[in-house]
Amino acid sequence: MSPRHRRAAARERLEIDPIACAGHGLCAELLPELVELDDWGYPMLADDDAVPPELAALARRAADACPTLALHRRRVAAGPPRPDLRRSPTAGQ
Ligand code: SF4
Repeated sequence: MSPRHRRAAARERLEIDPIACAGHGLCAELLPELVELDDWGYPMLADDDAVPPELAALARRAADACPTLALHRRRVAAGPPRPDLRRSPTAGQ
């Protein structure tokens, strides 16, 4: 699967709450494909924080294992956002 197709199929993203994160590094051990540690041991997400479907189970495990609940999975729509027709300047004309 190409990176482009992987991104298009992704339905989850990872987020890290920097206030809650204590820099244990467990997430990088459990999910090295998407999480790296910086020089101080705090996690950095890959440039594209989308979770490919084949890594969804590992991402869930990493989020569940975070001791401070700082690592979150967020569901996102797979496709581009739809235009909001209710706010269209031509709506109702
Ligand atoms: S496991 Fe949680 S607390 Fe530890 S570095 Fe990762 S996000 Fe931070």
